[in-house]
Amino acid sequence: MLIGIDLGTTNSAVAVWRDERSQLVPNALGELLTPSAVSIDRTGQVWTGAAALDRMATHPEETATSFKRMMGTEATVKLGKRSFTAEELSAVVLTSLVEDVEQAFGERPTEAVITVPAYFNEKQRRATRRAGEIAGLEVRRLINEPTAAALAYGLQDRGDREPFLVFDLGGGTFDVSIVEMFDGIVEVRASAGDNRLGGDDFNQIMIQLMEPWLGEGAAAALARLSPERRKALLNLAAEKARRALSDQAEADFAVTVGDDRFAATAGGEAFEEAAQGLIKRLRDPVIRSLRDSGIDLKSLSEIVLVGGATRMPVVRKALTRMFGRFPNHSVHPDHAVALGAAVQAGLLAKDGGLDEIRITDVAPFTLGVDTSTHDRFGNLQTGIFAPIIERNTPVPVSRMEWFSTIRDNQREVEFNVYQGEARDVAQNVRLGTTRITVPAKPAGQVGIEVRFTYDTSGLLEVDVTVPESGLHKNLVIVDEEDGRTSKDLDASRKALQALKVHPRDEAENVAAMARAGRCYESFTGHVRQTIGDWITDFQGVIDKQDKRLIAEAREQLLAALDRLEENPPL
Ligand code: ADP
Ligand code: MG
Repeated sequence: MLIGIDLGTTNSAVAVWRDERSQLVPNALGELLTPSAVSIDRTGQVWTGAAALDRMATHPEETATSFKRMMGTEATVKLGKRSFTAEELSAVVLTSLVEDVEQAFGERPTEAVITVPAYFNEKQRRATRRAGEIAGLEVRRLINEPTAAALAYGLQDRGDREPFLVFDLGGGTFDVSIVEMFDGIVEVRASAGDNRLGGDDFNQIMIQLMEPWLGEGAAAALARLSPERRKALLNLAAEKARRALSDQAEADFAVTVGDDRFAATAGGEAFEEAAQGLIKRLRDPVIRSLRDSGIDLKSLSEIVLVGGATRMPVVRKALTRMFGRFPNHSVHPDHAVALGAAVQAGLLAKDGGLDEIRITDVAPFTLGVDTSTHDRFGNLQTGIFAPIIERNTPVPVSRMEWFSTIRDNQREVEFNVYQGEARDVAQNVRLGTTRITVPAKPAGQVGIEVRFTYDTSGLLEVDVTVPESGLHKNLVIVDEEDGRTSKDLDASRKALQALKVHPRDEAENVAAMARAGRCYESFTGHVRQTIGDWITDFQGVIDKQDKRLIAEAREQLLAALDRLEENPPL
């Protein structure tokens, strides 16, 4: 079974192609979005999704969010006893999505299409692919998020030359892409963005706007908390108020410290005004993407909205002003990418009707090798970038270039593979190195053929041949920092398998407990005591193992927590 996955910075989602259409699959809590959050304690017990987010407030040192930002780097986060890379944490999220599909269809999926941002480089793509492999998935294809979104909006059913502008404002990143079909091939014509702009930044604006209104008592109470705790509380208040402002004119901005609740009313207009600085930053990438693709605003067939933060009225208003028309949001903006990934999955599975269209992406960056050359004074200039596959070339693609030796009796030639646009290789990203032995001859007399093959998943293979000796090296790039082998993958897999995952039928109880735990810590005194008693009672019911009783008790607990959080005792 082949599934489509949106592995997001803030939220992830999974969809399948069934009955001629894409369908999202709910998680164990019945929700279509799963927060990309993982919490692991010292005993190796794991929480994912909403439960992990709740543990962010109570156990920040055991919880990780936004790890997609570290994808493709060696950075690790220590959770419990072990350190985890972004690909391992992503694998935990992927595994939970796989289990959701297994639960829904009674069959464990083994293959996936996973989406990545259009700007992801080789390393980030390879890391994403490995995350899938650690989770036990064969990653059939990585596709760009805007391509997926355009598929969800039916780009493939349009004619040629009907460009879509995909405007994606998520939790922490902003991406604009122009996607178009030409000759039956769907491609990203241009992409631009700001990887430090999203809903989180609007939360900061909300906090700056509202914190002063909470009053001196609140300031004193907040000052007594640890910085992480204070930040978490204010963020929670801002997130809640900001979402509420998407549907109403006013909302409560409220924090509870100990027994005290501090609240102030946030008005939509004041928030809009305060957010204008961020709104201005939406403009530049739009202009850049249009310019790079050579497409003018008027000839765009569709402007489609993707990402939860596009639900803010302040963003919609700005867009309508910018484009002079209402953007299309007929597909739920938070679901478009996963739905599109499943369209691609359906296409790969050759599920009737879809096999007419080929979907292709372009190479997002130029790929090449470093070379040296003698300047006109006879000095050797090194570190000059020689492009082999230029950016925006449709993939899959295979290109070959000739190089020759530079010194007399040179016995070996080294090729460093780079990705980027700068002439000086030091400014580009080094992807790997390969060496080949050459026959000893005068400089320039030995030719070497270098072939780059770039596949539809954005993975690169390098072939180096010396025709004179017949020596040939077919190398999968392995560079020092990124040199993961299948042994390393096995180690990651084993480590994750050793983690203790809560049984699926307990997921709702686990999430309820995590939330109760968060509430327990946010209050003090008798309220805290009461929540403590609720937790004890709930645990007692769980221990009785009667499903019906447990479900009833859980509903009661959640309703009580709702009441407490909506309207805390003063
Ligand atoms: P990502 O692609 O980064 O994983 P999403 O597309 O899921 O992110 O968007 C997450 C962001 O959407 C968060 O900042 C969240 O606050 C915001 N968001 C979700 N729903 C709403 C809403 N109703 N109103 C305003 N913002 C929302
Ligand atoms: Mg997203």
